[in-house]
Amino acid sequence: MKLYNTRDRYELVNFKEALFRGIGEGGGLYLPVEIPLLPGSIINNGRLNFNELCYEVATSFLTDEIPPQGLHDLIAGAINFDAPLVSLNDDIKILELFHGPTLAFKDFGARFMAGAFSYFIGNENEEITILVATSGDTGSAVANAFHGMAGIKVVLLYPSGRVSQLQEKQFSTLGGNITALEISGTFDDCQSLVKKAFSDAAITGKKKLSSANSINIARLIPQTFYYFGAYGRLENKNKPFLFCVPSGNLGNLTAGLMSKKMGLPVSRFISAVNANTVFSDYISSGDFKPAPSISTLSNAMDVGSPNNFERITGLFDNSYEYIRNEILSTSVSDTETIGTIKKVYSEFNYILDPHGAVGYAAMQRLLDTEGTTKILLETAHPAKFGQVIESAIGRLPDMPDRLKASLEKEKQSIELPADYPVFKEFLMYN
Ligand SMILES: *Cc1c(COP(=O)(O)O)cnc(C)c1O
Repeated sequence: MKLYNTRDRYELVNFKEALFRGIGEGGGLYLPVEIPLLPGSIINNGRLNFNELCYEVATSFLTDEIPPQGLHDLIAGAINFDAPLVSLNDDIKILELFHGPTLAFKDFGARFMAGAFSYFIGNENEEITILVATSGDTGSAVANAFHGMAGIKVVLLYPSGRVSQLQEKQFSTLGGNITALEISGTFDDCQSLVKKAFSDAAITGKKKLSSANSINIARLIPQTFYYFGAYGRLENKNKPFLFCVPSGNLGNLTAGLMSKKMGLPVSRFISAVNANTVFSDYISSGDFKPAPSISTLSNAMDVGSPNNFERITGLFDNSYEYIRNEILSTSVSDTETIGTIKKVYSEFNYILDPHGAVGYAAMQRLLDTEGTTKILLETAHPAKFGQVIESAIGRLPDMPDRLKASLEKEKQSIELPADYPVFKEFLMYN
């Protein structure tokens, strides 16, 4: 697979290079020069199990770089959990993406990426440092995916006081090759520290850095798997269907758009955002204006400068018209989020998490059309947001065992100011 840099059409790399570099020269993102087409015989084949389907989708990207056995092993190791499609009624389906080890969809990307690193590192002996800024769920998914992996160190930055205690526990208690930095600042501060480090020759001359944010194309490829998986599981494939994607950095949405380019017959996408309205404002006005992030109940979507935006414009040849045809977007407040959790619980006895609730509310507002199947991506397990859920429905969601286990461990974070020289010093000497 050949990929180009969204800020420099002439910088071409293969998958392995894109995986290790994470980000292109000048801060651009890698995007496949050509999105592969998946044969209809695979897209419509209801008999493949989820792992087999993942393999078929992955091989269409990676066939020239990872041989079949290697790719089978990578997928079997990384995607060792399911993505079930639950029906609320004939029209509304929930694609549950939280069955991985850290209970959020980011396990797909993080585990696949970790598997790919491990595949390519093989027996090279240079250590890699993975830098990742997290607004919550990326951190736990990445930390868990890489924990204990030989030759890889993970340094993750998160905004102090702006991730839930539970999220914090999931990534700050692992120790070993995982270092958690608690930054006194916002998620955007964390992201900007990481970006600076990547373009700092003093650091990159000394350490082999790579990224694990949704910047990395290796995170996006596995996120296309479940869009195909959901379609495979639809009972009525003749009815038009759309996906609603709770969005922050727009990685999940980008993966959906790529799936459509690969041949998935989805009619449209809804990108649901919280009070951080940069993308919904773009969809309604055509102007993309990054803004400082605002804290909300759906905190993994508190992004003021969504970094995959460049990939979306890249996929659509910079045409606002095309983009507006494919994507609807709207913003949902915290009050509506709580109200939606309550409503869906009383109507269907189903507990949405706050991110899924933003999606649900957006879906109800934008499209009350009958005759279209609406598939909502439920991006996290509600137990990760117990207090919010309790305030909405008066009870806590059941807590899966894998979450209980991390709650019992001690936090081991290192506190740092949102100050580049201090961060640099830390990176150089740790
Ligand atoms: C990261 C995250 C999102 C946002 O996904 P993007 O790919 O950044 O748009 C939504 N929900 C949850 C639970 C997340 O962790």
